[in-house]
Amino acid sequence: MTVLVEPASLERELLASRARTLRLTADLKGRRLLGPMLAIVNPPLWEIGHVAWFQEWWCLRDGASRAPADSMLAGADRLYDSAKVAHDTRWSLPLPAIEATRTYGEEVLERVIARLRRMPEDAGLQYFAQLAVFHEDMHAEAFHYTRQTLGYPDPLPAPAAPPAIAEAPRGDVELPGGAFELGAFPGSGFVFDNEKWAHPVQIAPFRIARVAVSNGEFLEFVEAAGYRRREWWSEAGWAWRAGAGAQAPRYWVREGTAWLQRRFDKVAPLAAGHPVIHVNWHEAQAYCRFAGRRLPTEAEWEYAAAWSARDGRKHRYPWGETTPTAAHANLESGGPVAVGAYGDGDSAAGCRQLIGNVWEWTESGFDPYPGFEIDPYQEYSQPWFGTHKVLRGASFATTRRLVRNTFRNFYTPDRNDIFAGFRTCALR
Ligand code: FE
Repeated sequence: MTVLVEPASLERELLASRARTLRLTADLKGRRLLGPMLAIVNPPLWEIGHVAWFQEWWCLRDGASRAPADSMLAGADRLYDSAKVAHDTRWSLPLPAIEATRTYGEEVLERVIARLRRMPEDAGLQYFAQLAVFHEDMHAEAFHYTRQTLGYPDPLPAPAAPPAIAEAPRGDVELPGGAFELGAFPGSGFVFDNEKWAHPVQIAPFRIARVAVSNGEFLEFVEAAGYRRREWWSEAGWAWRAGAGAQAPRYWVREGTAWLQRRFDKVAPLAAGHPVIHVNWHEAQAYCRFAGRRLPTEAEWEYAAAWSARDGRKHRYPWGETTPTAAHANLESGGPVAVGAYGDGDSAAGCRQLIGNVWEWTESGFDPYPGFEIDPYQEYSQPWFGTHKVLRGASFATTRRLVRNTFRNFYTPDRNDIFAGFRTCALR
């Protein structure tokens, strides 16, 4: 293994990721530490301990070996191993109290940092420390959407006035497609097994929207009785809609003739220029059928994000190679902004906000790329192939260090609790 990240910057990332977990969980007390038993959330008390356990398992206990060392917390594997502890049992485990859970996490983190300093040449340790950072970042986003699900206040400030909200660019960009290398190239730093490796795909010419579908556009679908008209829904989508009794996106609230939207613990008028959010794959598909559009495939999405006709190659981010700044994308904030904001983050193709603001559903199922080889953290991708849909980009709640054009997120098509919207393509 080659050194992926310098130990000093890894140390900063480990500390920053933990600080983020704290920001998102520090005010949870009493009953909120367990919360209601729902399939789409974890009990926060469990999740805080699980993040520490994961870091200890990979960075201190040599979890990939046949005989991992003991945890510093007796019985930790029976509590926190997400692959073995069934989801609905996590509320009734004999979990340590919050103070002891946080102390366990602090001790693990201190020892990981000490180990990184002691073994600055150990590429394996660096790999697993980076894995632990990203794992904790993903759980931070999960804490964030759990807070939306349960109606808790948003602990992060609303995004600062975004750079240059000119009018949202309208319409589609027309892209020639052709031969494209989908996925990550070797040597591009830490990537997950599901991104490996770049492989040729053929993309037909296509037209993709410059911006994500807005609340105002989605409202047209709702007001056209979109949730009551069978013809716009697939069979699976209609079954979901009927079972959920959905009449509008999950957090929309009708008040007289106006539409409001709940965000965390507050209800405010629906922001017409913001992206539609908290819609699932079925709702995105139904909107597309209503609008005479379709979802992009993940190959089309990645091509629109990464390909530059100017230099004839793929780039790490829509805007090029520079690490994300506050001007490029709405990341690490407390909420979405208008779809026209962040023009500095446009892709070479001319699409806006491909990264940040809201995750974007794609048409594609989550499948392994050709030649897939499983990485040491075996439960990351493989258990979910075949049942999940791919989302691309990132949301306002994603960390800057996690984003890149080749990153694949994945959820089941019924999930509307996550920070996801979508953009559309013209029909082929
Ligand atoms: Fe986890």
